[in-house]
Amino acid sequence: MAEEPKPVLIRERLDVCELDRARMSLLNPVLIGQKLESRTIDENAKPILEMTMKEGIETVWDRFEMQQPPCRYCESGLSCSRCTMGPCRIIPLHRIRGVCGADADLIVARNLLDTIATGSAAHSDHGRDIVET
Ligand code: SF4
Repeated sequence: MAEEPKPVLIRERLDVCELDRARMSLLNPVLIGQKLESRTIDENAKPILEMTMKEGIETVWDRFEMQQPPCRYCESGLSCSRCTMGPCRIIPLHRIRGVCGADADLIVARNLLDTIATGSAAHSDHGRDIVET
């Protein structure tokens, strides 16, 4: 039996992962200063944020930056992975319905409702803290 050919790399292999690359770039003091100003206006939070950047501790801001640019379909709400028949993407003019028949309006509306409900549920503890305070 003939051996299968090995895949050919189309780009050079990266020596570091994106996270390491981000951490290294965050060591630049000028960049740290810029990021501090853009990440918070709270003077009490700045020293903590500065420390996380100097020590390469990943925060929500780093993960957000590493996720850019967002997936075009996910950002537009025109993808659906609600069931195992998908994931489905709406790509006008030809793919205008998911496997189940859901059109762009329905998929976007469901996705928006899902993200609002999920986000609210995930952060409901902040609301409880405010009420308790
Ligand atoms: S569009 Fe319909 S078939 Fe496709 S993943 Fe969503 S629910 Fe399932």
